Amino acid sequence: MRPYLLLTPGPLTTTETVKEAMLSDWCTWDEDYNVGIVEKIREALVRLATARPEDYTAVLLQGSGTYCVEATLGATVRPDDVLLVAANGAYGRRMGEIARYYGMHHAVLDFGETEPVSAERVGQYLETHPEVTHVSVVHCETTTGVLNPLADIARTVKAHGKTLVVDAMSSFGGVPLDVAELGIDFLVSSANKCIQGVPGFGFVIARRSALEACRGVARSLSLDLYAQWETMETHHGKWRFTSPTHVVRAFKQALDELEAEGGVVARHVRYVKNHDTLVAGMRGLGFRTLLADAVQSPVITSFLYPSADFDFRRFYEALKQRAFVIYPGKISKADTFRIGNIGDVHPADFERLVATIASL
Ligand SMILES: *Cc1c(COP(=O)(O)O)cnc(C)c1O
Repeated sequence: MRPYLLLTPGPLTTTETVKEAMLSDWCTWDEDYNVGIVEKIREALVRLATARPEDYTAVLLQGSGTYCVEATLGATVRPDDVLLVAANGAYGRRMGEIARYYGMHHAVLDFGETEPVSAERVGQYLETHPEVTHVSVVHCETTTGVLNPLADIARTVKAHGKTLVVDAMSSFGGVPLDVAELGIDFLVSSANKCIQGVPGFGFVIARRSALEACRGVARSLSLDLYAQWETMETHHGKWRFTSPTHVVRAFKQALDELEAEGGVVARHVRYVKNHDTLVAGMRGLGFRTLLADAVQSPVITSFLYPSADFDFRRFYEALKQRAFVIYPGKISKADTFRIGNIGDVHPADFERLVATIASL
């Protein structure tokens, strides 16, 4: 069931047991599904997100990660509110685009594509723009692999008393964090990233009091995060509309496997080893990383093309024939390709990858 390894930021390589969990059918009305799977997932997600689970709650929502980012912004930023998006890549800019579609009062503070978001500059902006009510930021900007200094940003945003929305899509479950400790109000992630499930839904970990204040704010029925939560909360795990049952069952299996691995801390250690093995090997072959090591996440790594006449398409096809699928680059200023370090992939896979690249 695995023609090649996906060295991509998601969908990614999943275990056979996660895929097998999709081999039975589930009734959305039956408690085996709602109480037995959905409610357990919601509890497990909150426990993964914080050591203080009583203040937080989880909502699952159909669609890809972007649907959840949109649902979150749409449910919490009111017509009179002002959103500040701190962006340093495509996913940050996408939050600005969502704000534009919704006609929200908003500003995008752009940090380019290869620098982390500066908490200091966010603080300066908030000093001079007291009208801002919400700040949103991406934790790991998958566009390049840069890991933003979330603790510093969160401290600044909370010191100014703003609502903080974090797109932790590609970091949650693979990079340790505690939403209560950081003061995060809404954290968004999806099934097919570091938890290592398959695509089909995303989820939001919300401060209960902040979500409770979102009633009636949404301007979209299917993306009404509050209504989705209220139904799950009062009907014991029921989704408002058809839920991706097989995907949800696979996600439960993936969560059990995360726990068996030793939780987020152990998974982070493995991803760091994957990354370090990859980078040491690639540097040995003469490749250079786009980012400085100090701002690099263990999630995905961008490499510069080794020469002006480098043929990415040929490189990609040659690796694919040898059972490795990598990812093109996504930035405008430099020619890059990306290699993902997350999923059911291990340091030995990266040793094989580097040996394969050396042999091309
Ligand atoms: C994957 C990802 C998303 C969501 O992308 P979808 O294609 O909608 O799943 C959003 N933000 C970041 C940082 C991501 O890595």
